[in-house]
Amino acid sequence: MTLQIKTSCITCGSDKGKFLLNKALDGRGEGEINLFQCQNCQTVYLQDWPLEFVPELYDYYASRFHQDKQTLYEPINDSRLKSVLTSLKPLVKGQKMLDVGCGEGQFVDVALRCGWDASGIELSDSAVAICQNFGLPVQKIDLFDQTLETNSFDLITLSEVIEHISHPAPFIARTAQLLKPEGLLYLTTPNFDSLDRRILGADWRVIHREHLSYFTPSTLKYLIENNTNLKVFYIETKHFSLESIGRLRPKILPDQDLTNNDNQIKTIETVERDQLLRHKIEFSNSLKIIKFGINKMLNLFGLGSAMVSLCRKNS
Ligand SMILES: [Zn+2]
Repeated sequence: MTLQIKTSCITCGSDKGKFLLNKALDGRGEGEINLFQCQNCQTVYLQDWPLEFVPELYDYYASRFHQDKQTLYEPINDSRLKSVLTSLKPLVKGQKMLDVGCGEGQFVDVALRCGWDASGIELSDSAVAICQNFGLPVQKIDLFDQTLETNSFDLITLSEVIEHISHPAPFIARTAQLLKPEGLLYLTTPNFDSLDRRILGADWRVIHREHLSYFTPSTLKYLIENNTNLKVFYIETKHFSLESIGRLRPKILPDQDLTNNDNQIKTIETVERDQLLRHKIEFSNSLKIIKFGINKMLNLFGLGSAMVSLCRKNS
């Protein structure tokens, strides 16, 4: 497949981009990533972003096809997604929900179990195959497919999706079209202003080939409110990784003594420790209180690594 690429701002099209950082993608011959920041709208974007969806980037779903639902869907995510839906319920009038870029379908599955009239759309063949294998109402269509009716959804969810999209402005405009008047958009994306990114720089795990754009609370608000009739009425940032804490500790070994392989092992170990901590927090009330306090502080200064926004369509 020959990729058609563009180098101007992914959000507003301005050519006034300023080089921000370079990241070498070690070990797998994937080259490097260069991020630029638009001097017009401040969005951060991949220098040579592809104009279309690149299926090869999402091949990894295929390796999970033969796993059963109990193995694939982590219980900890089930309870997290249930609590998201519980908090959204009072803000939404009806129950018709669309999860865009639904991946393996866990959010659709949880929503159906919670009584929502939920469905999903996804472009990765292997992810759609997993969803359909589980009997979920998930179609392989894009957001612009004419079978999706305008003004028809009470809730649209975009969980970690917008950063993968080649043309986020028309994409978010189409999302708004599909919502009913007063419908709700729930959108999550990594926060480029986060403490994690500031400490880790190019080593921030979020910076990789799949992500074409990177937002902050203000650039996300700009994207949404300049392209739609949606009003962003809530933005929260939360979470901070163990990897950042490790980076702040005095180092036993200087970085130059580590090979790329050592660095990769270190990253995998940190990811596993992060997951272990998530499980520990789930079962400990005192850790939950500490986490709540940390997230309060991160949100106060807009420094959390995960960003959640809620947007309402004008009536
Ligand atoms: Zn721009």
